[in-house]
Amino acid sequence: MINVSKTFLPDRAEYNNYLKKIWDSNWLTNNGSLLIDLENRLSNKLGSKNLLCVNNGTMALQLAIKALDLKNEVITTPFSYVATVSSLVWQNCEPVFCDIDSETLNIDHRKIETLITSKTTAILATHVYGNPCEVEGIDSIAKKYNLKVIYDAAHCFDVKYKNESILNFGDISAISFHSTKIFHSIEGGALITNSHDHAYRIKQLRNFGHKGYEEFDGIGINGKQSEFHAAMGHCVLDNFSEIINGRKRAFLYYDDKLAWEFIKKPTYNKNANNNYSYYPIILSGESETLELKAILESNKIFPRRYFYPSLTSLHYLDNQQACPISDIISKSVLCLPLFHDITQEELDKVIFIINNFFKG
Ligand SMILES: *Cc1c(COP(=O)(O)O)cnc(C)c1O
Repeated sequence: MINVSKTFLPDRAEYNNYLKKIWDSNWLTNNGSLLIDLENRLSNKLGSKNLLCVNNGTMALQLAIKALDLKNEVITTPFSYVATVSSLVWQNCEPVFCDIDSETLNIDHRKIETLITSKTTAILATHVYGNPCEVEGIDSIAKKYNLKVIYDAAHCFDVKYKNESILNFGDISAISFHSTKIFHSIEGGALITNSHDHAYRIKQLRNFGHKGYEEFDGIGINGKQSEFHAAMGHCVLDNFSEIINGRKRAFLYYDDKLAWEFIKKPTYNKNANNNYSYYPIILSGESETLELKAILESNKIFPRRYFYPSLTSLHYLDNQQACPISDIISKSVLCLPLFHDITQEELDKVIFIINNFFKG
């Protein structure tokens, strides 16, 4: 079986080295020393001023919305994972969909302005597949209309835009460290912000609103990351160059071998590096996509439809704007197997089946 992704697991001895620290300290969670060390390592690696770990990427999104006190309408993208939009609804905001650009698959910033009303408070955009949005365009709209900006940067580990971490754009970025992501801590995530005030608020929010043991600053939730999760984060970070190199090799091989006269790929931002987090291909329509998917699956190869369905179809949302580009793309995209130790034989098999499908 060749799955779309395969989680990197460290050598068990490496994990045990970190676990020993937990047994020595007898401290399992609540901002333990492994977590504090991990936050420092990640801040240094990614070049961010404030990086605050939480127990998953969805929690990071929800805390970002809460920390900025967002209400009413938030303009967002229908081409993302469901957590982007469900987090808004969960926090009592109303998502307003803006269609995507057919080349980058990110929110089309040229279409944002017409959707702004007196009730709009923010823009929540996803850097799809780690490919940065038009951050300058979004930023100037936000300034003009006094809107907050949150980026769903779930896919953006180690992506730099114009030599700066993409996570430093917008008011807050939310990243996921789920085990399907390129850097993981089993479950996990983080909020990144340049603002020390936002960082202070997020620290209270993720810890029940505690201000010291006996005082509370306001409402809070349990967003804490445990020492066991932090230990896994350290191990994955220790091996990160091996993970990236393995993915890069596979990514470039697909680039080289797939029959590009029949398929398309997204246009990647020229001012950013690719972190090889996904390998999306765009086909000519849904029937072709489903046919190819079925053939791959009958050969025990399991691509995924990231992202299908387009989020405009969520039944708990009403009165949604039509987003025809997102509709078509979501029906025509497949992410191919991509992981650090995918073998040459596995890649050749995937490529052979796809090219054979088109060329017969
Ligand atoms: C993975 C993902 C999330 C959710 O992160 P979790 O850590 O699984 O909660 C949110 N948005 C996008 C775009 C994702 O890919």
